[in-house]
Amino acid sequence: MTGYESFAREVSQGALGLLATGPAALGELPALCRRLAGDGERVILTDDVAKLADGRDLLAWVADLVGAARRVTVRATHAQVALDEATVEDAVAEVGRPSLLVSVGSGTITDLGKVVSARSGAPLVAIQTAASVNGFSDPLSVLVIGGAKRTRPSVWPTGLIIDDRVIDAAPARLNRSGVGDAIAIWSAPADWYLACSLGLDGPFTDEAVRPVLDAVEGLTDPDPGRARKALVDSLTVGGLVIGVADSTAPLSGSEHLTSHILDMAAMARGVEHDLHGAQVGVATVVCTALWAEVRETSALFERPWADLTYPADLEQRVRDTWASIDPSGSLGQECWTAVARKVAAWNAADKAVCDRDRAALLETLFGYLGTPQRSATTLRHWGAAARFSELTPPVSADQVAWTLLALPYMRDRLTLPDLLVMTGEWTAELIDRVLARAATAGGGV
Ligand SMILES: [Zn+2]
Repeated sequence: MTGYESFAREVSQGALGLLATGPAALGELPALCRRLAGDGERVILTDDVAKLADGRDLLAWVADLVGAARRVTVRATHAQVALDEATVEDAVAEVGRPSLLVSVGSGTITDLGKVVSARSGAPLVAIQTAASVNGFSDPLSVLVIGGAKRTRPSVWPTGLIIDDRVIDAAPARLNRSGVGDAIAIWSAPADWYLACSLGLDGPFTDEAVRPVLDAVEGLTDPDPGRARKALVDSLTVGGLVIGVADSTAPLSGSEHLTSHILDMAAMARGVEHDLHGAQVGVATVVCTALWAEVRETSALFERPWADLTYPADLEQRVRDTWASIDPSGSLGQECWTAVARKVAAWNAADKAVCDRDRAALLETLFGYLGTPQRSATTLRHWGAAARFSELTPPVSADQVAWTLLALPYMRDRLTLPDLLVMTGEWTAELIDRVLARAATAGGGV
């Protein structure tokens, strides 16, 4: 058993009651249902998308294994199910108070299952139908609150079942998106390490990211079965890591910010945007290129950080950024509230500690970074988008530049662009150089 496998086993025996993966994982379902529900009522929660696995109708198959069960089907109001307030409340009311809830679906349905489980008190067994995000194995749910995507505490699934036959039958687009979410591990830990070192988060622990770093090693395995296992493991272990750390920060840095801003801009304009992981993958190529560009061409890593401060016109920059997609100013207000928290934390932190042993700090930090080349090659291995213009719908060069410039102006989590705002280096000219570097690696616009 590898290190990350033993980590997964340890956590899943604690928080998660049962983690079943492999070629016939669905076979665990009848005994698990008996153990959790006895003779009590079972409810299957799913959406109205047809699901086939191993040539069979997956819902009928699961219903057979679960035993007599009531079915609650969530219908999409837009292109796909969105977990807004009304959708959540309807599902809570329709599920009621069964002895067991079984969700059958990908990220959104599982997130809904976790929220309904928390509200109804029924244990949740999640049947994962795609390797699309790392959110299956954590106690958080992404909801739409007041029109904005927010991550909220929910519950761990009591059981998580990931059957190879089901994952192999998932739409390729979903599994390719999972690759993008998984490779955030080559970008996010450096941002998290930076924030922790500066006293704005933490403590940083290697154990919070090492299991995922190990798991992604197999993503480019030429054997499709081994590569699929690496993908499933990377995402499952990623969710467990987030759950144990009780924060998405170990796996969510500038590359996730990029995806959130693409979503926000699309929602504000009323247009579609690509899947979370597809955006994160493309952004990971650019964010690893950013670290490389700054390392090579900026004095940031040599100069003292203790005397750095945010610019005096920061609030105006934040408001101007968001006014371009929301002239009402309410998005600007919300983002400034978050950014102001970051400024207060920065002003209160003891940064001098980072100036004392900078060489050791940088050695550790750079040790967590992947390269833009490896990020792009891994995405290409799976046929996933590596460039913004390959997303569905494509993101234009102007939108990419605007999105990247907005990175430090959106939320309260410090990442590398914050320091570059303080040094005056966070400019359109730097973004151009970063995108050119990413393009050389096979990514960028
Ligand atoms: Zn993610």
